[in-house]
Amino acid sequence: MSFALRPYQADVVTETRDNLRDVQSVLAVMATGGGKTALSGYMSGSASKRNKRVIFGCHRKELIKQTAKTFDKVGIPYGIIAAGFTGDRHQLVQIASIETLRRRLDWYGAPDLYIPDEAHHAGAATWASIIDSYKQKGSRIVGLTATPERLDGTGLGKWFDRMVSGPSTAWLIDQGYLSPYRLFAPSMPDLSGIKKIGGDFNRGELEKRMGGAAVVGDVVKHYRTLAHGRKAMAFCVSIKHSLAVVEQFQNAGYRAAHIDGDSPNRDELIKAFEDGRIEILSSVDLVSEGFDLPAIEVAILLRPTHSLSLFLQQVGRVLRPVYAPGFDLNTQEGRVAAIAAGPKPYALILDHSANTIDREKGGRGHGMPDDERNWTLAGREKKARSGSGEDEEAAVTTRQCPNCFRVHKPGPVCTGCGFEYPSMGRTVKELEGDLQEVERNAATVERKREQAKAQSLDDLVALGKQRGMKNPHGWARNVLAARNQKTQRRYAR
Ligand SMILES: [Zn+2]
Repeated sequence: MSFALRPYQADVVTETRDNLRDVQSVLAVMATGGGKTALSGYMSGSASKRNKRVIFGCHRKELIKQTAKTFDKVGIPYGIIAAGFTGDRHQLVQIASIETLRRRLDWYGAPDLYIPDEAHHAGAATWASIIDSYKQKGSRIVGLTATPERLDGTGLGKWFDRMVSGPSTAWLIDQGYLSPYRLFAPSMPDLSGIKKIGGDFNRGELEKRMGGAAVVGDVVKHYRTLAHGRKAMAFCVSIKHSLAVVEQFQNAGYRAAHIDGDSPNRDELIKAFEDGRIEILSSVDLVSEGFDLPAIEVAILLRPTHSLSLFLQQVGRVLRPVYAPGFDLNTQEGRVAAIAAGPKPYALILDHSANTIDREKGGRGHGMPDDERNWTLAGREKKARSGSGEDEEAAVTTRQCPNCFRVHKPGPVCTGCGFEYPSMGRTVKELEGDLQEVERNAATVERKREQAKAQSLDDLVALGKQRGMKNPHGWARNVLAARNQKTQRRYAR
């Protein structure tokens, strides 16, 4: 038996294979939930059938176990290279812990094909040393990831020659491979003054801020309003934070439990969650990679992060569809109808981390889960998050309804409650927020001054281009709209 690949997965495999005729390393990009495991399983299986040696590298014990389970299911024999597992070096396919693999590089020898999972970590020393070593020895490399960039937005071109991209999250939702979703951001955390370490928030400080009783109480309150009784996974900053969240949910009468990679009763907890005995599972981002649990109906985001990768993995968890039986899952209509008729017609995302909120409004600016993202091996054209990145103006990608807290793509009407935005685009309240921000930040003032000099739409577009914006036209239109509204307010007084 082998993997029955979905058509778009088969396309990625073919394209990857074609590229490997010309180059030694390919980065295969598949959105979270698009079926990365199917790709690695298929490639491992077919390579071993041609008597090739394959190593599949991952960096967490649960991923090793999960991959082994998948390979068992489809009958691919394998050995495991990881501390705590009995190895079988005679198998053509090896599932390896990357940590262990680095220590035993010579023990097994270079494979014909090396598949590092979660390959956006490729820049980390351990990962890079294995890839470099195997490359020198002539191995072909196929990296798998949902987010082909490093935390600072730099690309992975140093380790991969070419990139092959699977379909976008938006396409997967449209086709019924992923669940549609509704996103709400009912509260914004106050993260002022929290320092960054290694490109992301200082965890200790973040834990204190996010774990405060008032903040957590608010989370419970909004779950009750927006998602009462629906199976939720909370993504927290730390174990301590997660336990605090569990406690408050329990105090409010909900059945909640903390889970992490070391929970001895992990399988039991998951089972209890699946059959409804537990309503809320709370965790740290530890389980955000490769944790496959379609039963999750609600993602509660409690971990502010600058990592787009981490953000997309967390929301990706909740987009796994649950199909009602009796539909033809080989057609788009069948899949879409099966989701609509199932227990989870749409996923709910409750963002208390401001990860989805635009940077100019104090959020992380990761946008909507299914925004189109133009990945390249060179990384983002503009490293919007490096250096003084906090002050960079990004094009407006999301809009939040002041009435129901729904976050959605910019448009004149809230997609949740139908609230109509004032005609010129942004609410008075939002603009006042902007003005206070300007006063606080001299650098921003300078940029705004530069911006104010650009009078016409063309001037603004030129400035947008000069600033390296992804969508200079959209940005310019937004600036003009805001300006017009300000003018109106002035005259109204
Ligand atoms: Zn609304």
